[in-house]
Amino acid sequence: MIYTMGLDIGSSACKSIILADGKEIVGKSLIPVGTGTSGPMRAFDGVLKDAGLTIDDISYLLTTGYGRNTFERADGQMSELSCHAKGACYLFPDVQTVIDIGGQDVKVIQISNGAMVNFQMNDKCAAGTGRFLDVMSRILEVDVSDLDKLAAQSTEQISISSTCTVFAESEVISQLAKGVHKADIANGVHWAITARVVGLARRIGIRDRVVMTGGVAQNKGVVHALSQQLKHEVSTSDLSQYVGALGAAIYAYAKVQTQAQN
Ligand code: ADP
Repeated sequence: MIYTMGLDIGSSACKSIILADGKEIVGKSLIPVGTGTSGPMRAFDGVLKDAGLTIDDISYLLTTGYGRNTFERADGQMSELSCHAKGACYLFPDVQTVIDIGGQDVKVIQISNGAMVNFQMNDKCAAGTGRFLDVMSRILEVDVSDLDKLAAQSTEQISISSTCTVFAESEVISQLAKGVHKADIANGVHWAITARVVGLARRIGIRDRVVMTGGVAQNKGVVHALSQQLKHEVSTSDLSQYVGALGAAIYAYAKVQTQAQN
């Protein structure tokens, strides 16, 4: 049995997966803090513990994500674009569009026959990223993982007109002061973040199947708003936040095979 590890060192969370023979997931771990923290090491220790293995059992450790060059024990690194494409193809072999919304950036990746052919990325502005949801959930006094449940109680469609996270934060604070319901604001927040992502996705073109990856894919309100605004069904998985780590573990297995041939 060949074990490989993928470690996705993100801006807000660290995710890790161990695969057996490049196929079967035997361990996973997620620590909700990112690069520059104890997160990478804790995700590394956590995934080994989950799999009941030690580092000596791992044939190749491949890192990806924003902090991929900062982990000394890595055998290699790969861009998160390639890893998200690879991981999404593992979960949904017929995927043609990947929308990855993480803590600090958003990427739309076009895939043809299992390989990335084009991409668009926004890492200049927080408004279309998880950061926007993190800021808004703090003001609404709700955990980011419960923002969708709050929005589901909305009865009135409101819009957040500011296109910048900082101005949108002031706008939401003033709406709260005027007595606008938190549920309606939460729903408005989902539609606002989605509008930014749709703008990016249209630049590249949307082709079915559309798969959403990254931590924000766990927010059912954003997934619903995205599918409504794109007019395409959007697929997610329980493993959405792990997709980069999964792709990294698959690439790690390919590295082991190449090494064996040489
Ligand atoms: P990165 O790789 O940039 O660190 P992730 O893909 O791990 O980012 O996503 C992190 C973002 O996901 C957070 O900023 C947060 O907004 C969102 N998130 C994390 N967990 C949840 C959850 N349970 N429900 C909804 N959103 C979540």
